[in-house]
Amino acid sequence: MCGCTGIGQTTPSGAGPAVPGSPPSGTSGGAALCCACPADRRISTNGNTNYVPTTFRSSSYSRLNKAHIAIVRTATAGSVTITKTFSLSAANGANTTTHIATATTAITDAMAAWEAAAASYKVRIEQPGCSPQDLTIKYVASITTSNADVSVSVDNTPAPTPSSNVAHGTRMTLYLNGTGNVSWTMIHEVGHTFGLSDEYTYNRPAATPAPSLNYKGASDPNQTVTLSTSRIPPRPATSFAFDNATVMGINGNTTYPKYLFHWISIEVDALLRSEGIIAVVKVV
Ligand SMILES: [Zn+2]
Repeated sequence: MCGCTGIGQTTPSGAGPAVPGSPPSGTSGGAALCCACPADRRISTNGNTNYVPTTFRSSSYSRLNKAHIAIVRTATAGSVTITKTFSLSAANGANTTTHIATATTAITDAMAAWEAAAASYKVRIEQPGCSPQDLTIKYVASITTSNADVSVSVDNTPAPTPSSNVAHGTRMTLYLNGTGNVSWTMIHEVGHTFGLSDEYTYNRPAATPAPSLNYKGASDPNQTVTLSTSRIPPRPATSFAFDNATVMGINGNTTYPKYLFHWISIEVDALLRSEGIIAVVKVV
């Protein structure tokens, strides 16, 4: 695709004669990516095992992050764009126009909120033979009618309702009459569609030792977040309790630590590897 070969390319030991570029399956068609070459692909990654293993969620639980990822680069800059498609349907009395419109706006705003938060960070690529590149992180929501990455059930069940939730990263139920405002709720739930975990434990009081999350990175060091061991009063012991002071941990909180973007470095790293490039990729 780029008409450029072998930049920074190394051959793994035992891999046979040096052949520039990635295998023919790579989108570059067998030539390693040049420093400013773009790349893109579909992703479908279980965040529960690949991004954020937790001690309070079974490793067999899948939280798929289905999306399209694309990098566009100049010599020292560029962007990484995450595009996720959503389809919406109305349930339990939700209006097919006004309530769907409310949810659609919430999705668009939520992706914009993640992009605004990501403006504090960059994904840095250090590709062998190239200058370091700091990529701006972009999120794009696309509304579609079929084969969406995330199907959203917009539910107008009167309060009290269950909590809005995302099953397995791909099936969201948005309860319009739930606690909390719809805008923040969508930001949090969209976080789950990226494969991110809740930062609170379930069914308090929880077991000892304190439950924890382990945020993996590509070249970033793993980061462990430890939650508290006891329920937060006045919530009943059997209910969920909100805990870590981030968008994934406390109702209404809008703090986005750097580690919430580590998954993007993991995916950029994997994208580059699919093109035959072994680079240092981290969030800075
Ligand atoms: Zn949640």
